[in-house]
Amino acid sequence: MKGFMEEFKDFIAKGNVMDMAVGVIIGGAFGKIVSSLVENILMPLIGIILGGVNFSDLSVTVGTAEVKYGIFLQSVFDFLIIAFVIFVMIKQISKVTDKFKKEEEVEPTEKVCPFCKSTIAVDATRCPHCTSELGSVKWKSGL
Ligand SMILES: [Zn+2]
Repeated sequence: MKGFMEEFKDFIAKGNVMDMAVGVIIGGAFGKIVSSLVENILMPLIGIILGGVNFSDLSVTVGTAEVKYGIFLQSVFDFLIIAFVIFVMIKQISKVTDKFKKEEEVEPTEKVCPFCKSTIAVDATRCPHCTSELGSVKWKSGL
């Protein structure tokens, strides 16, 4: 339990809570925008394509129950669009962070001598340990 509380403290201290809160608020607002987009713009247009169908009116009466599958379809479209947008966003973010990581990578400054397996300077042409010529070896293996 102590470990859990410490983890929780770390979690708050790292500012993850703020990130998460911002994410939830933006996510909520974004969800409303997508719902509105689907309900008020996309579905009427799809309705026209399908020959003047109003999705929110689509329903089937089963006994005494009215099954409003049109509104359900709108929710499915909402979900698909949100899932798609999140997928694209995550892909873009991981692309950017990958780039950032690659830029952070430092050029290697050491290599291993193929003869004595000692670690030597990357631009050495002769091994300081076994005195083997490295420049010519690397040239040959490079071809
Ligand atoms: Zn060597």
